[in-house]
Amino acid sequence: MPLTLSQLLAQIRQNDPKADTTLVELAYEYAAEAHQGQTRRSGEPYLQHSLRTALTLAAIRAETDVVIAGLLHDVPEDTSRSLEDLEKQFGKKIATLVEGVTKLSKVKYRGIERHTESLKKMFIAMAADIRVILIRFADRLHNLETLDALPEDKRLRIARETLEIYVPIASLLGIWYFKNQMEDLCFKHLYPEEYKKLEFKYEIEQKVGNKQFIQETEGILIPELKEAGIKFEIQGRFKSLYSVFQKMQNKERKFSEIYDVFALRIIVESIADCYKTIGVIHALWKPKPNRFKDYVAVPKPNGYQALHTTVFGPHGKVTEFQVATRKMYEESLYGIAAHWYYKNKKSRELGIGKQPKWVRDILELMRQAKDSEEFMSVAKIDVFRNRIFVFTPKGDVIDLPEGSTPIDFAYAVHTDIGHHCVGVMINDRINKLDTALKSGDTVEIITDKNKKPSRDWMKIAKTSRAREKIKQALKEGGGFMKFIKWK
Ligand code: MN
Repeated sequence: MPLTLSQLLAQIRQNDPKADTTLVELAYEYAAEAHQGQTRRSGEPYLQHSLRTALTLAAIRAETDVVIAGLLHDVPEDTSRSLEDLEKQFGKKIATLVEGVTKLSKVKYRGIERHTESLKKMFIAMAADIRVILIRFADRLHNLETLDALPEDKRLRIARETLEIYVPIASLLGIWYFKNQMEDLCFKHLYPEEYKKLEFKYEIEQKVGNKQFIQETEGILIPELKEAGIKFEIQGRFKSLYSVFQKMQNKERKFSEIYDVFALRIIVESIADCYKTIGVIHALWKPKPNRFKDYVAVPKPNGYQALHTTVFGPHGKVTEFQVATRKMYEESLYGIAAHWYYKNKKSRELGIGKQPKWVRDILELMRQAKDSEEFMSVAKIDVFRNRIFVFTPKGDVIDLPEGSTPIDFAYAVHTDIGHHCVGVMINDRINKLDTALKSGDTVEIITDKNKKPSRDWMKIAKTSRAREKIKQALKEGGGFMKFIKWK
């Protein structure tokens, strides 16, 4: 069934009954006109992709501007309408979001594993705004859903890129909604046989047995919770197949060992009810020692909150319960997007562990976002404010301070490349050696083995590494003297 504008409007009104949807409707018409006649590889009209992206954003309760940017996200890149025109129609805020999404498409995984860490940083640095990341995630999710239409090499590249770059960032930002779905879609394409096997096992062997067990457990629990005056909702399975696959690989455990533990999630209305519910569960079934985890009092570093306990349930079956309020549950699903939705939050210290500094900076930022009503200003991720990330022709990522030039780049790659540098291609175009590089540029240094560093380079080089090497070479090779003579 094709998606429609009214589905999107309904979702937006569900989030906010008073929402003004005029601009959404205009954006829809604008996108429809711009993408007129274009189809996706799957054969469906291109506009379906725009609608799906916007609908996903509305479903995670992103603000209306973000939803509109989702509708328009492919316009500047894939149609004759320019970003300037888009800005004239929809204003600076929306245009900036769309521009950010377009820029992010430059961050490509080219199969070099040692660079995934830099690529993740590059992705975040170029997004510079969590909302841009959300739009890119929603866009990627639909691309993954329609991956079957693509040739195999492209399919695998996108799946691998998602698994190496997007999934870890979704996990870092605590957006399980994207993480789980992206993971399983990638799993399906990268490991088709393992996926099929696991899906079959999960569907057939477990789901049926599970259902019965869950019903039985619910049958015991529901009257007790009602008696305690707790309003609640119970959910069954919620692990991604890929996470099961990973566990089986890492610990060489069998499917049955992982899925032998039944897990139920209970969603209640207040924090007090979370603890009351745990009390009810522990009164019914004997808790397994040391398995009660209070992530309400001490949330996980990414902000995750819930109470976990494992008990010997009906028939002595080991059963895990996760108890959370609706707000906590939605925050765990939608991450930062839900933080905005529930904006009036009290400050809470996070137990931030031993992550790299950039990860801690982002988590701190998210904590602030959670506490702030002025979320517009903290949506900016400026932990990489003073860094740029550029590609070598082979796809290696080089991390440099802002204002760096091709000379800095050349020395960062290799001293010899620095010393013999005669020219530069930036994004396949000849450029001057003093050009300031920008994040996302692909830089290729042209060398000549007879070339030696010149004194002028000291004015061009910004990094201390390059300056040191140039100084040294000028001293040793007499390049300095030669330069004087030439002049
Ligand atoms: Mn797209």
